[in-house]
Amino acid sequence: MTDTHRGPVTIGIDVGGTNLRAGTVDAAGRVHARIDTDTPRAAEDLEDLLVDTVAALSAAQPADRPVAAVGLAVAGFVSRERDRVRFAPHLPWRDTAVADLLTPRTGLPVFLEHDANSAAWAELVFGPAGEGENVAVVALGTGVGAALLIDGRMYRGSTGVAPELGHLPVVPDGRVCPCGKRGCLERYCSGTALAATAREMLADRPELLPSVLGEIPVEQIGGVDVARAAADGDRLARAVMADMAHWLGVGLSIVADVFDPDLIVVAGGVSASAALFLDDARRVYAGRVTGAGHRRLARIRRSELGLDAALIGAAEVARRGLRTAAEQQGTGADPADPGPTDARNLDRGR
Ligand SMILES: [Zn+2]
Repeated sequence: MTDTHRGPVTIGIDVGGTNLRAGTVDAAGRVHARIDTDTPRAAEDLEDLLVDTVAALSAAQPADRPVAAVGLAVAGFVSRERDRVRFAPHLPWRDTAVADLLTPRTGLPVFLEHDANSAAWAELVFGPAGEGENVAVVALGTGVGAALLIDGRMYRGSTGVAPELGHLPVVPDGRVCPCGKRGCLERYCSGTALAATAREMLADRPELLPSVLGEIPVEQIGGVDVARAAADGDRLARAVMADMAHWLGVGLSIVADVFDPDLIVVAGGVSASAALFLDDARRVYAGRVTGAGHRRLARIRRSELGLDAALIGAAEVARRGLRTAAEQQGTGADPADPGPTDARNLDRGR
């Protein structure tokens, strides 16, 4: 088996609200050259950075194996055609034809996919094989991304924006969410949420002090600081993690009540700290899901691909998009479906 027989090398870029992770990915899902950086706030800066990143990664490829396409995993609503970003709460794009903007500037076909869908593809194609037909992927990052595979197919809803599990209201009269509601899951289970809960506990829970988080200017506390402190045994940071675990368990029990999956994969940057919260979340989940004790509970595991899941999945979307485009040139099929839709037809990559 050689890579040459497994399709082209593509670039996957996970365009998160905070971090931008890019890499060259082969058809077996292996990441080669990579670039990690911060996500710029302004649209022009972001587009310039994407063009520069593609150029740098392309330059690192051997001349006989050039990059064939680019896939962007976007934390937001992507059009059904997967060429536009409709709305991305943590990114500067609003109804922006990102693929049309970037294709001429990079000289490569550009494919977009929702970041959680990208992570779900990567988990499905390159994760442990044959795990289930009904899979929920919940990606805990700056916000919460989610993807549903139902009977092995990506569920996209009627308008292409579903599912937004991060905006399930789980806490009555809870924190205000940029979506306009209160108490959304992502306000309690995300990197942003870890920082918010830490700030609240520093102010309201004197019994948890002292904490190393108290030494950081309060507005500068980030989710990573909380995760690091919790890993070091800081009591307040551990309490922050326990709070997230509780609400994650509640949220996942709602997901299971609606959708009854075989498997729930917890992905995203925060999943790097899964050892600090996932067992507690499983306990809350098992206690809350309707009919617990009388049904098989979904297995809940952390992403095996970790931080790279969306990057690898985006590269895979680009690779399959290229192949679909090539097939359509011969068949005149609908060009509005550039990517994979049926997991059962996927080469599982091993
Ligand atoms: Zn919300």
